[in-house]
Amino acid sequence: MPSTFHIGFDDTDSSEGMCTTFLCYNLVKELISDTRNELLDYPNLIRLNPNIPWKTRGNAALAIRLRSSLSKKNLFALCGKYIKRFATSPRANAGLVLFEGEEIPAKIQDFSNRAMYSVLGLVEAREIVREFCLESISLRSNQGLIGALAAVGNVLPSDHTFELIAYRKSLSKPRVLDKSKIVMMSEVTSSKTFSSYDSEYDRIMIAPHGPDPVFLGIRGESAAAVKNAFNILCPVENLRGWMIFRSNQGTGEHLREPISLDNPKAYYSGKTLGTVCEAPRTQIGGHVFFEIENEQGKIGCACYEPTAVFREFAKMLTVGDVIEVGGGIRKNTTLHPKVLNLEYFKVVKLAEKFTSSNPKCLRCGVSMGSMGRGQGFRCEKCGQKSSASKHLIEQPRGLTEGRIYIPPVRAHRHLTKPESRFQLTKKRSIRVKLINGWES
Ligand code: ATP
Repeated sequence: MPSTFHIGFDDTDSSEGMCTTFLCYNLVKELISDTRNELLDYPNLIRLNPNIPWKTRGNAALAIRLRSSLSKKNLFALCGKYIKRFATSPRANAGLVLFEGEEIPAKIQDFSNRAMYSVLGLVEAREIVREFCLESISLRSNQGLIGALAAVGNVLPSDHTFELIAYRKSLSKPRVLDKSKIVMMSEVTSSKTFSSYDSEYDRIMIAPHGPDPVFLGIRGESAAAVKNAFNILCPVENLRGWMIFRSNQGTGEHLREPISLDNPKAYYSGKTLGTVCEAPRTQIGGHVFFEIENEQGKIGCACYEPTAVFREFAKMLTVGDVIEVGGGIRKNTTLHPKVLNLEYFKVVKLAEKFTSSNPKCLRCGVSMGSMGRGQGFRCEKCGQKSSASKHLIEQPRGLTEGRIYIPPVRAHRHLTKPESRFQLTKKRSIRVKLINGWES
């Protein structure tokens, strides 16, 4: 009798090369070449808390969900073989977890949920592995066990996106891509793909620059959409093959939990509501800082230079504005307190902002001079006096109530919800056929 299995793995890569999705690509390729295995979903590319400092790049973990008539032992041995073959870097703290069963236990789902925004420990991961009799392997520091377990538990039940990742044959050859084709693809498929091209800064966003095997990645709303977009770019040279992943990228899933300002925890991600209590100021390097407060406490908010135009919007905030902010808590240092590194802000209520000017002389029409606090005004031209008060002029704010402000595409994190997705949420259960391409 075939069984349902959920395989999670993480941390097989390092900054010198490799990519955990490439391991997944190779493992899936072997799994589907055996008729005893049937994939139940696209491989899941789960991005975890992006504010974890020990991540290599985008804090990705992977899950494969399948029905198989292989024994648990044999399936686990096969997956373990791939982990050992690929996770060879001394910095790859790889983890592999295998769960057998239809329904993921609530405790594992809860662990995954917390992995999105908090910092979890190995002790808890190991306890869960023991409690549910999961098969597992972990290498070196064993840290990858956390991501592997979190990947198993996140079945992407609501909002989700897709990414087609193509891999290159030779790592020594540069990634050659036709920029004009990418710009055209991004325009033609704009309602169904996202973050391929940053038109504001004329920057291609689909190809990495590191030594890893990824050729390109196209993100979008459906498997058909990303495949169609890829077809527009083909043929490309040095292509090994490609695979479509279902993912939480572009969903903002890490920013759903509230951050408490009475004791915000370092590296946590989330959101909070507050009133601007210290106006934005620009510091050396072009970084913008301001402070918000609510009944729980106060925190500084930071918008760094690469967020470009986002900083300009942040600079328009003023004391008294009520805003919702989302981001990650930067650890305090001996010199600086904890700071919320901003990933978005939403204007809830704008404070009125006024400038004042002295009244004009009724005879000459020129601005009168003040005779001192509470002493009224005098026209310097004709000497006419006036007890009128200063004129208050309401300033246009440049910000819009209800609008969400986010950094430009080039400064997005994998989980950032792009503007094109603001109106979308998906709720559906997926049992789909895999659309994959392998090298011939
Ligand atoms: P890439 O994006 O190239 O795959 P990466 O950025 O995913 O690399 P990893 O090398 O996988 O980085 O390292 C991330 C490590 O952090 C993993 O060991 C993972 O288990 C661990 N981790 C992920 N989320 C959490 C969390 N919320 N709490 C504690 N550890 C975590």
